[in-house]
Amino acid sequence: MSNKILPQSISPRRVLRGEKAWEHGKEIIPSICKRPLLLGRSKQTKNIRDFLYYELIQLGSNPIAAELKHDCCELDLAKIKTLVINNKCDGVIAAGGGKVLDAGKLSSHRLDIPCITIPTSASTCAGWTALSNIYSTKGAFIKDVILDSCPELLIFDYGFIRQAPPRTLASGIGDALAKWYESSSTSNASTDGLVQQAVQMARVLRDQLFIDSHEALLNQKSDAWIRVAEGCGLTAGLIGGIGGSRCRTAAAHAIHNGLTQLMHSKKSLHGEIVAYGILVQLHLEEVIEKNQLAQQARKQLQEFLKDLKLPTNLDNLDLKDVNIDSLRLACEFACRDESDIHRLPFKVNPNILLKALIMTKGQEIVVRLENNIEENKYLDRS
Ligand SMILES: [Zn+2]
Repeated sequence: MSNKILPQSISPRRVLRGEKAWEHGKEIIPSICKRPLLLGRSKQTKNIRDFLYYELIQLGSNPIAAELKHDCCELDLAKIKTLVINNKCDGVIAAGGGKVLDAGKLSSHRLDIPCITIPTSASTCAGWTALSNIYSTKGAFIKDVILDSCPELLIFDYGFIRQAPPRTLASGIGDALAKWYESSSTSNASTDGLVQQAVQMARVLRDQLFIDSHEALLNQKSDAWIRVAEGCGLTAGLIGGIGGSRCRTAAAHAIHNGLTQLMHSKKSLHGEIVAYGILVQLHLEEVIEKNQLAQQARKQLQEFLKDLKLPTNLDNLDLKDVNIDSLRLACEFACRDESDIHRLPFKVNPNILLKALIMTKGQEIVVRLENNIEENKYLDRS
């Protein structure tokens, strides 16, 4: 057995968080890069990026602005690479949601230049982690890439994040909750102290999200909002950093990765799909392991997700045209050999997963699926 010790990237080199964090963080930027590529995407955050661009010029920087056309996909990554090389950029500042942050981090990693992350929502912990997901131009998950390090600087400015729609915070809550449900199922038996501590941190984060999320979504000026936004954007990333590769994702994210193969309009956010994936994972634990606690946990979580208007069944996701064949393809993708779904303490195959997806069904879809199943007898296949 290999005894290779891999370096662990626990956190960004520097983190600035708070009201007007940008005002403090911007002073550090000239010591990191002089000609940054300022990367973003959505129209909603254009005003923030324009402000950052102007501020960078005031600081004596010479920035180049660029926008992702799609997701963190090879097509956009190739364009960023050309821009960085042609303009002799010496750093990337990624200002946006998870896909923009992932694209900025991965471009920096490949070009060996520093990355600065400025999240404009708390929808994921991508501003923190040494990991990027690569998608197709249509938003289908392809793979994740482990990076050499976390970002050089993370600026978590509450003012920028408050401008994001509340739905992004709810999505971040779904993604952050998955840390507990996934790490506890895969790593509870771990003898590694850091992994054990990361799992317990994930439990504390889950409890805090259960307590504070409702108020956080009602009142952006509340302390609860700060705790929840930082829990999603920062603590969730720290848990991944401390737990490392042995404390990674499990079924909830694997189900997300499978379902993105069917979504072409990008209406469902990452954490929304992951939240639904947690319910399916708990259902698997309930049915396969005969785990009564998983059943209780699923019912408790289901009510909580409903309160936050997060998806609790397939009908709530952007899957209107789904049929049994496409759903089966998603399950096959989720159960690929390299999938983290196989980190669960029991075996899962596409048939078992397909049944679980249908059990956590929506009314509209189930009628169509049940008709389909009758015709196809797919579920009897082994
Ligand atoms: Zn995630």
